[in-house]
Amino acid sequence: MPQEIDILVSEVGPRDGLQSIKRIMDTQDKLNWIKALAASGIQEIEVGSFVSPRLLPQMADCAKLVSETNKIDNLMVLALVPNLKGAELAVAAGARKLTIPPSASHAHSIKNIGKTPAEAIEEVHRICKFRDNLPVKQRPDIEVGISTAFGCTLEGTVSEDWVIEMAGLLARAGADSIGLSDTTGYANPAQIKRMFRRLRSEIGDEKMGGAHLHNTRGQGLANVVAAIEVDVSTFDSSLGGLGGCPYAPGATGNIVTEDLVFMLEAMGLNTGIDLDALIASREVLLRGLPDEVLYGNVPEVGLPKGFTYAAKRNS
Ligand code: ZN
Repeated sequence: MPQEIDILVSEVGPRDGLQSIKRIMDTQDKLNWIKALAASGIQEIEVGSFVSPRLLPQMADCAKLVSETNKIDNLMVLALVPNLKGAELAVAAGARKLTIPPSASHAHSIKNIGKTPAEAIEEVHRICKFRDNLPVKQRPDIEVGISTAFGCTLEGTVSEDWVIEMAGLLARAGADSIGLSDTTGYANPAQIKRMFRRLRSEIGDEKMGGAHLHNTRGQGLANVVAAIEVDVSTFDSSLGGLGGCPYAPGATGNIVTEDLVFMLEAMGLNTGIDLDALIASREVLLRGLPDEVLYGNVPEVGLPKGFTYAAKRNS
């Protein structure tokens, strides 16, 4: 049984973080890292992506990672799938939850997957039909995160009306949950509040997904607080902000899991995660990727004196 928590921290480092790193991390090193993350209390981890290994050699071991990490107790394993073929491979590997990233930006969508947003929504529909035809026990949960929902490096401003309309279309296509992704680090807290409010009124509580935020412009944690204020309860982040941002030196990629967990716990929100164990898992990651640059303030300076976990304070 998963522990009672207030906020689900979904670790995406093994996918989003590693995706932008050229040198290939060994499968066993990835497994050791994922196990260390799970042992710290992380309850959901995106372990990889079922894309063509020709395009992304780093993700070639995704099937093996899914089947191995499925054996870890109290862990929901997520796999990214860009299309139906990826979904078929993921299900064959035993994936119980899939995440699909259609893009709201036309230019980004074409560049990324060679499909228009409308075609990408149709692909989500196909994946949902494929799921519906599987035996009940094999049916994965299907999460969708709308990419470039807050702006796009190619197109600039992305229409907020269109993002919300797209969420409605994806809900009708059969997705179980729909969240919003700040793929490019463009979002600000006011926009986050407005968009997640609109998302909820469009798709309802039941299909509300989480926030996938990048810290490219330093707005990451401010955006988390804004999202919490409108009752978003799932956040993606990566250990050490792995992946960085090649266009903004010093800026992390995804928001840093260690800093996120610290902030949530300090605010009295239970994550179920042990910060010492989480910070120690950086060493396990570095064993697989020696000398990789990791970010994060809390791992740098440590926990404040007298720090108490939310669960302890609330009990
Ligand atoms: Zn991302």
